[in-house]
Parts: sequence; structure tokens; C-alpha cells
Amino acid sequence: MKTKGNKLVNILKEKCPHCGKGDVFYKKQSFFSLPKMKDDCDVCNYHFDREPGYFLGAMYVSYGLAVFQGIATFILCRLFIPQLDTLFVVLAVCGVMTVFSMRNYRWSRVAYMYIFPN
Ligand SMILES: [Zn+2]
Repeated sequence: MKTKGNKLVNILKEKCPHCGKGDVFYKKQSFFSLPKMKDDCDVCNYHFDREPGYFLGAMYVSYGLAVFQGIATFILCRLFIPQLDTLFVVLAVCGVMTVFSMRNYRWSRVAYMYIFPN
């Protein structure tokens, strides 16, 4: 089955890499717990966790996302608030990385499945 829709949009919406319709993560979760991944796609029954340790590589994707967001925050701070002290720029970068950490965890796993589907 070919993935439906734009892959980047599907990654951002956390959709199955096989059918592009089923959700990869459970919707309702506690705010303080790590996002829980489904074992299989609800629509096409695609098994997400291919093998033990499969998602180890998603750490590199998560790292790349965090670095990108940090650099983007730094550039935006320097462009729009040039008089801002360097300490506050660093705090802003750390804040953005913290706020996006759980989202990056989810996006990195889904993106990793799109990069290495089998
Ligand atoms: Zn699916």
C-alpha cells in the first residue's frame, strides 16, 4: 500500500508510514507521562516496532530537530530583538527545546519510520 498524502504532513500529524491514515500514538495520555506508542496501525495493521532497538536511531532525528529549533530560536531572537542580552537568548533556546521535547520525541519516531520503513 502506498502512503496517502504528503509525507511531511503525515509525519507532523503522526500518521502511519504505511497507509498514512492510522495514528501512531494514543491520543489521550497523562501530561507528565511519556507518549505511548501503539503496537500496530488501527487501519492497515502495520507493525510499528520493527525489531528490538529499532527506535534507537530516532534519537539522532530528535537531536537534529532540537538543534534546528535551537538555531531557529537563536536567529529569530537576534533578528527581532537584537538588544536582547545573550543570557536571555540562551534561556529562550533552552525554553524552546524544553517545550518541544515531548513533541520531538513523537515526531522523531514517526520520521524515523518514514526514513527506514522496513
Ligand atoms: Zn497504517
